[in-house]
Amino acid sequence: MKNYDQITEEIRKIAKKILNDKTVDKVIGFGLGTINQEITPLFISKAEGAKKLVFNKNSHMSLAKYLLNYKNEDVAIVAKPCDSRAINTYLSEKIINRNDIKVIGIQGCPGIEGNTACLECEVRNAVISDYDVGEKISKKKTNQLKEEKDFDSLSPEERFKYFRNEFERCTRCYACREACYVCYCKECFTESNQPEWLNKSVSLNENFTYHLMRAMHMAGRCVNCGACELACPEGIDVRALAAKMYNTATEIFDYKVGMDQKQKTLLAEYDVHDSEKGFME
Ligand code: SF4
Ligand code: SF4
Ligand code: SF4
Repeated sequence: MKNYDQITEEIRKIAKKILNDKTVDKVIGFGLGTINQEITPLFISKAEGAKKLVFNKNSHMSLAKYLLNYKNEDVAIVAKPCDSRAINTYLSEKIINRNDIKVIGIQGCPGIEGNTACLECEVRNAVISDYDVGEKISKKKTNQLKEEKDFDSLSPEERFKYFRNEFERCTRCYACREACYVCYCKECFTESNQPEWLNKSVSLNENFTYHLMRAMHMAGRCVNCGACELACPEGIDVRALAAKMYNTATEIFDYKVGMDQKQKTLLAEYDVHDSEKGFME
């Protein structure tokens, strides 16, 4: 597995080349912010700017969502394997065109510091890539599928207590929603006032409604990247519900979202041989 510095060098080299020869007009990648070496999205249009691109242990955000700002433009994007699955899902949902994008796919992802999703990650090679960086690793070297927390062993009361403790700290700043590639609706249900799904006030009941409704929207689409959890300023276990459904879909339907650009999302396809067991059982 290549390290962050090696991957950074490879990203810079490719970005410089494809900007120089005008294969793309823009490269979307990670760069260093101004405070404490924080990582920020970087948009490079000139070849000499390629040296500003980095990939390090803090490159946690999913950049895929920025593709939606550059529809019908020739752009390249740096994609961790989880982000490459997000890109495939956009392609499958036909909201971006394959011909418009070039993917600089990270192979053998070394993971992100503090991201609990990386401990569960079993897809460490980019599944769509025009330019590979890093080095592919075999499935044997990836983590085994396991959930960080075993909610099945808890009683309903214990589960409720766990999520109550988490969600009562939620201020509904929606940073988790903004960080998630799945959440691209122009008008989120949280902002709708006709019907009003969610009261604007922050209370435990409304917070539960937000998190449960959001989890339903994630079913079969969450790639278990952990970006939502890392974005939360309150340290809330935001990923738990989506990750549970992610793992349930794998167990029941042998389904992993975004592995192929032609693959439909789970709820967009029905197979008569599917088990009848549902998410709510
Ligand atoms: S979830 Fe997997 S692919 Fe995504 S950053 Fe972590 S290790 Fe890499
Ligand atoms: S980022 Fe955290 S505090 Fe903000 S809405 Fe999401 S869970 Fe709540
Ligand atoms: S809900 Fe899933 S896809 Fe969205 S940010 Fe969280 S882990 Fe990633």
